[in-house]
Amino acid sequence: MGPRFLINEPVMQTGSTVALPEGPARHIQVLRMQPGQPLRVFDGRGQEWLARIEEMGRKHVTVRVCEVMPVDVELPVAVTLAVGMPANDRMDSLIEKATELGVSVIQPLMCERSVLRLDGERALKKVAHWQAVAASACEQSGRAVLPQVAPVQSLGTWLRGSANSEATHATVGQRAILSTAQGLSLLEWLKGWPVEQAGQAALRACTFLSGPEGGFSEAEEQLALQLGWQAVSLGPRILRADTAPLAAISVIGARFPA
Ligand code: SAH
Repeated sequence: MGPRFLINEPVMQTGSTVALPEGPARHIQVLRMQPGQPLRVFDGRGQEWLARIEEMGRKHVTVRVCEVMPVDVELPVAVTLAVGMPANDRMDSLIEKATELGVSVIQPLMCERSVLRLDGERALKKVAHWQAVAASACEQSGRAVLPQVAPVQSLGTWLRGSANSEATHATVGQRAILSTAQGLSLLEWLKGWPVEQAGQAALRACTFLSGPEGGFSEAEEQLALQLGWQAVSLGPRILRADTAPLAAISVIGARFPA
């Protein structure tokens, strides 16, 4: 069925003709695809279509959007990973893999012991880069919903603000701080989730708060606990900052198979 591309085009619908953005257009040129050949396009909000190449210009490629392709590969639980950003390319790899595993939102955080500090223009650029990493992981893994990479925040501001505001409570859902010092096992924690009402499975959401390379400070962990977060352990081994969130989301995927 040909390659898959995320097209951020609000008017995409069956029967419309769409000019591919630069990246996908180049990709089509490299594959030497011809008019009439099939590909798939999705909008990042859950809709996917079979499309066919209509015109191949030297730089521009237009496609005709044909039929809707039903895709349902999302986790039944909306998972937010709020992570103390690991440095180097480890954050890229974390975002790629978390997207494959079905994450809904990634909230990059600066903690007391964070190595990576970002603000202003640099932070915006990094978030745009991570969003692009998530987009290509979506294309490759068959997801039609693009996870959102939220603006970088400091842990304290985020914990005291949006993570606890009423407005976002539904998206934050059940809250766990991954702790190397203490906590329930992840499976025990899952057992304690409220039993959902029939038909409300889509409302299930959880957030994992996971530390940077240097871990959380005592004060940070205390603040989360005071604000009602549950300490959760992933076992006796210390996992790296880019491993722990992936281990946690894998367990969600196993516990709530689609
Ligand atoms: N030197 C740090 C290691 C931090 S590992 C320390 O001893 O705390 C980075 C983050 O991954 C931790 O802050 C924690 O949130 C998470 N993590 C790593 N191993 C874990 C485990 N076994 N259980 C729960 N969380 C873990």
